[in-house]
Amino acid sequence: MRGFGLFVLTLVSLEAFDYQLAPQKVTEDIYCFFGKPEMITKENGGNMVNSCFVRTEESYVVIDSGPTHTYAKQAYEAMQKIASLPVKYVITTHAHDDHWMGNSFYKQQGALLIGPREYEQSIAGKAYSIKPEETRISQIVSKEAFAGTEIVALDQVVGETSFKFKEGGVDFEVKQPVSKAHTTSDLIVYLPQKKAVFTGDLVFNDRLTSMRDGSIVGNLKAIEMIEALDTETIITGHGTQTDSHTMDHHKAYQSQMKEEVLQAIDEGVGMEKITEVVPMEKYQNEAMYDALHKRNVLDAYAELEMYEEEEE
Ligand SMILES: [Zn+2]
Repeated sequence: MRGFGLFVLTLVSLEAFDYQLAPQKVTEDIYCFFGKPEMITKENGGNMVNSCFVRTEESYVVIDSGPTHTYAKQAYEAMQKIASLPVKYVITTHAHDDHWMGNSFYKQQGALLIGPREYEQSIAGKAYSIKPEETRISQIVSKEAFAGTEIVALDQVVGETSFKFKEGGVDFEVKQPVSKAHTTSDLIVYLPQKKAVFTGDLVFNDRLTSMRDGSIVGNLKAIEMIEALDTETIITGHGTQTDSHTMDHHKAYQSQMKEEVLQAIDEGVGMEKITEVVPMEKYQNEAMYDALHKRNVLDAYAELEMYEEEEE
């Protein structure tokens, strides 16, 4: 009996982490694996992010490859059940590691990797690369989930000048709308024929945004630029809402924060009091409010204090 128990245990430990990925159809030819509205945990294996794919006549184009090699492999297997097509391009929206650590899997499949400047500068460039164990994901998820994950360089870096390509009859436009928004380089992917845009983390829904590496002023400006596009479908980096009103909630949160923090600065409120003055209670029941709201207010304060000075 004891021997049998040991045998079962060995079998379980050899099995890969199962992400239980099920693609959701967003609109014609566009699908997403929607992650949970929570932090990265060992239990979710980093599956708290959206990884999406566009089906063209000849291939798939992936937008954000997800948190690990295992995740990307399982996503690819799920995609093959819809249609047996290769993945030709993988676009990384920004440098946060929950969005791109599946890149090594797709690179091994022969895909071309497109991404932002910050990825090239701080993750992997032609002569430089961080180690997989230096990433936040590697420190949280299990060994089984992380197995096989490597850091790979981009084939095409995109900045403010849009990068356009046509694949299997579908036009793609990749572009960095502003210089600093959610991070120092965020890309959006626009499909004019399908009236669809992938915003990456310039927009969150189902949970609050994290502003630690970005700019509230830049983020609001980026949202205005996305609003100017002709869209019916808006797909964000986190969250399951995808209709034309997807940005409203995020925009309202950041607009209110900007207004209240600027007013507090005008009234002479110091940094040590700012989180008490700007609690924004109506967002209290939002996922991740406790983990992120105060930090967001502090980041907004640090930025807007400077902004005030520049304006005067
Ligand atoms: Zn992010």
